[in-house]
Parts: sequence; structure tokens; C-alpha cells
Amino acid sequence: IDPIHIIGGGMAGSEAAWQAANMGVPVILHEMRPTVKTFAHQTDGLAELVCSNSFRSDDDSQNAVGLLHWEMRAADGLIMAKGDKHALPAGGALAVDRDAFSQDVTETLLSHPLVTLERGEVAGLPPEEWDNVIVATGPLTSTALAEAVAARTGEGSLAFFDAIAPIVYADSVDMSKAWFQSRYDKGETEEERKAYLNCPMDRDQYEAFIDALLAADKTEFKDWEENTPYFDGCLPIEVMAARGRETLRFGPMKPVGLTNPHAPDVKAHAIVQLRRDNALGTLFNIVGFQTKMKYGAQKEVFRMIPGLEDAEFARLGGIHRNTFLNSPRLLDDRLRLQSDPRLRFAGQISGVEGYVESAAMGLLAGRMAAAARLGRDLPPPPPTTAMGALVTHITGGADAKTFQPMNVNFGLFPPVEGVRGGRRKRAERYKAYTDRAKADFGAWLAT
Ligand code: FAD
Repeated sequence: IDPIHIIGGGMAGSEAAWQAANMGVPVILHEMRPTVKTFAHQTDGLAELVCSNSFRSDDDSQNAVGLLHWEMRAADGLIMAKGDKHALPAGGALAVDRDAFSQDVTETLLSHPLVTLERGEVAGLPPEEWDNVIVATGPLTSTALAEAVAARTGEGSLAFFDAIAPIVYADSVDMSKAWFQSRYDKGETEEERKAYLNCPMDRDQYEAFIDALLAADKTEFKDWEENTPYFDGCLPIEVMAARGRETLRFGPMKPVGLTNPHAPDVKAHAIVQLRRDNALGTLFNIVGFQTKMKYGAQKEVFRMIPGLEDAEFARLGGIHRNTFLNSPRLLDDRLRLQSDPRLRFAGQISGVEGYVESAAMGLLAGRMAAAARLGRDLPPPPPTTAMGALVTHITGGADAKTFQPMNVNFGLFPPVEGVRGGRRKRAERYKAYTDRAKADFGAWLAT
């Protein structure tokens, strides 16, 4: 059997190699470290955790990332097996001893008879004779490869930076203050007009909000971040606010083309708009609110917005170096580039966010690539599972125009019949999601 090639020995690439090799397909794993370094990796080990040592919640009965752990364990995942083996006490979370973990992943893969590790950068598109490739080069993909992928996929299809606006669960917005309306009622259908939620502010609320923005704790920019041209067009809101107290009122918070049905005669001083972020309409991003505020500060400041006092966040805002594809536009549901199906993408570059999510996409890509090599086709798990919900989101469910890498969360899951409802019912609903996911994932694995 001819080998498949996997580029990048991080979270996704290591898992992909393990899965493919266990299906009997030889793997050549290409890792550029230590020859070429990244600013975040410190070692030459495979599956190095670049920042925190946490795989987040391990609760598989009510938590989406805990459920993803469960699915990866059920699918004989290497990352979970080694995470469990090198777990540290961390309450309900799974934290790992990063060095022992990475060393064990490295040794396990090196001792697998079907895995060959080649050290060195793949500094451009892979050669044509590599007919089955997984690109798992992560958020810090080397420049030469990133530029080649950007050229291959076309303008605007590969991001180098992630300017993330915070994402809110729709069911945590107070609809006695907010309302659905697109600016100037644009949109042909009722659904298009319901793509936006609006939160009004009076003058005092706006002034207090600007004060809080300016005073909030922020993460400092690194030199290379400040000096990069990619920053045009994704200025953090606090930087905009610092340019003048009225800047936001003439930018993302402009109060025009909208009428508040709760107070039709009052003209709002400013309006915060949220835009639907997924096909299901369960998630909304706050338009133009990318930010370098620290996470704690973001929650405090954003909950000052009328209607968002009790908002729950599917993810908070941020701006970082991050290489990722516009996957909803470019990838098919087998994680292949539609325009060049020999290239499959996995990990953070495929548009997911987080160690566990990256490894999960590696698990799927490894199995799909090996299946293809064996002359079979492996469909993704159903969207009712954590892995399936992620693949569905990144390869079609998400809006390509505002696409940002995504953590797994229950907002990505189709609702369970009969258990919709307010915040108090949330625990019950999440339990229903996980029960359904486990049954459906088991059935997928069995086939
Ligand atoms: P990586 O784990 O980065 O693996 C990619 C590998 O590809 C690397 O080993 C790299 O050396 C190699 N490579 C790159 N280009 C080439 C090339 N051309 N040829 C050969 N090899 C190449 N997620 C969390 O859950 N928690 C965190 O705390 C966290 N912190 C982060 C901090 C930073 C600074 C960054 C950038 C990201 C962070 N993430 C975090 C997000 C992300 O989940 C992790 O980066 C995760 O490791 C991504 O997995 P991956 O397999 O896609 O990429």
C-alpha cells in the first residue's frame, strides 16, 4: 500500500497518523521542528501543547468538549489515551503533564511499524506524486506553505490573523430589550431580515460603555503584530474607541436604519448589532467587536450592553496570529479541498479552535484518508455528534463571510425535539444532546 503524507506533527497530525496507521496504511509524517521553529513551540516533540496544559471539561454528560473527549476515546484516539495516562489533578477538567504527554505521543508513533517521521519543512504545495495528503500545519503554518496554499485557494481564502468578535448564545439574549431587524430592512426573506439582533443604548449607557472599554484590562500587542499589514480592517474596538469617543457611534455602533419596536418613538444614541453566526440561528456574533480585552474584562464590558446583561458566550473575542482556511467555501465534508481533492485539511487550519477540536479533526482526516487509500469512502459522523457537528459547521453550516475558527459547543448541534427552552432547562437539554450523540456516534463507529 502506498503511504499517505501528513504535514505537521502537532495535535491533528499526530492523531491522524495514529488512526491511518492503525487501519493498516503506511504514513509519512513531516514535521519541520526543530529545523524550522515557530514562535510558540519550545520543543521538537510531537503534539506539543503550546500554551495551557488543559483539554478543558471532561464532563461527558453535559458538556460539549467533554462529549468530544468521549467520542475520541471511543474511536481509540491517541491524544485522549495519552492525555488520560498523563493526567494531572484539575477538578472536572482534564489537565495533562505536557512534557510526559508529548514524549509519549512521540515514542508511540515512532515505534509504530507503519509510521515514518521525516523532519523538515514542506515549503510549498506538496509534490504531485503525493496523491493523498493531510495538511495539519496548525495556526502557525510556515510562511512558505501558507503562501502557497493562499495562492492555490485564491484571494481572501486563507487568513493569517484571527480577528474574533465575541459569539453569544441566542437564547441568552434578553428579547424584551433586543429585537430582530436588518439595517434598512434589507433582505428578501423573513429569514434574512432575522439575521440580525439589535441592542439599543441611550447617551448615558454609551458614555459608560466607552469609559469601561477604555479602562478594561487588555492584552499587549507584540511588535510583529503591530507591524503587520494584515491588521488593516480588523482594528480592536478599544483601539477605535481610543481614537475618539464618537468613533464607534459612526462605526460598528451606528444607530441608523433601525427602529426599536419596544420604544418606537425614542431615537437610540447607539446600537450594537449581532449577526447570525450559524445556520441553526443559535449563535450570534457581535458585529465589529474584535478585541484584545482580557476574557474577564470582556464579559463585564459586553454585559453592559442592554439585552446582553445575562449573555452567555460561545466564545470570547480576540486577535491572534492564526492561519486558517475559509473552510465553508473551500472544503467538502470529507475535509478535502474541493478544487484539489488530494489535499485534505485537519486541525486548526481547517477552521476549528482548540487542542481537542484540532485532534478530533485529525482523527477524522486520518481515518478518511486511510479509507480512501483502501478504496473505501468514509462519510463524517452525523451532525448530532460532537465531531459531526464540528465538521458540519466548518464545511458548510457556518457563514463563509464571517467565518472564524470554532470551539465545539452545543450551539452547533441540531436541537433535540421536545427539550427546547429557557436557561433553566439548559442542563436537561445538554444531557439530551450528549445521550443522542453517544448513541449516534456508536452507530457511526460500528459502520
Ligand atoms: P499544531 O499543534 O500547532 O501543529 C502543527 C505542526 O505543524 C507544528 O508542529 C508545526 O511545527 C508544524 N508545521 C507547520 N508548518 C509546517 C510545514 N510547512 N512543514 C512541516 N511542518 C510544519 N488551544 C487550546 O485548546 N488551548 C490553548 O491554551 C491554546 N493556546 C494557543 C496559543 C497559541 C500561541 C496558539 C497559536 C494557539 C493556541 N491554541 C490553544 C489553539 C490551537 O488549538 C493549538 O494551536 C493546537 O495545537 C492546534 O493543533 P494543530 O494540530 O492544528 O496545530
